[in-house]
Amino acid sequence: MTKILIVEDEASLVELLEYNLSRQQYQTCVVMEGQKVMSTLKSEAPDLILMDWMLPGISGVELCHLIRQNVSFKKIPVIMLTARSDEADKVKGLSMGADDYMTKPFSIPELMARIQALLRRTSENKKVSFLKAGVLKIDLEKKQVFRENHEIHLGPTEFKLLTFISGLILINSINGIGMILFLFLSNFMFLFSKLKAKNLTSSLIFK
Ligand code: CA
Repeated sequence: MTKILIVEDEASLVELLEYNLSRQQYQTCVVMEGQKVMSTLKSEAPDLILMDWMLPGISGVELCHLIRQNVSFKKIPVIMLTARSDEADKVKGLSMGADDYMTKPFSIPELMARIQALLRRTSENKKVSFLKAGVLKIDLEKKQVFRENHEIHLGPTEFKLLTFISGLILINSINGIGMILFLFLSNFMFLFSKLKAKNLTSSLIFK
């Protein structure tokens, strides 16, 4: 179930948002004080944040900035909710890392549509950041390769080559001729270890 964190100090608005989000089958959690946001992100791991601009203690914009600086949370989409409508404020909110921006009072159906669009966009990004090829799982962003959850350490050129070949397999398996490339991949690590043993490193070959 998709979880949405509501960061808002206005109780009536929290209630309205919780009601409408649960009707759309979203799970919700609420934080009314800015100081509690970072610890809640850790404990709740939400999929999206609705962030009020004006909060007691620390502002939504500052929080947004903190979230974007944090390795674990920087990818969580944020929609800023604010009474401010000036163009300059809007730009500031977006430049501090918000993905979208809604000015109060906003229409609930529009907010729901924007949440849906943002979640769709995020899940599409998630899809392309991982590549699965046979028993290998490749994290394209962190440049890590796993074989049955054990990391295989590769150099940058080996990694590039592996992702290139895995990409070919992905395309070709759709056309039903992926088996040859699949077999090639399963021998891939062996092949490189042989090349390395002969001092023929991949960086030499692909210069
Ligand atoms: Ca507020």
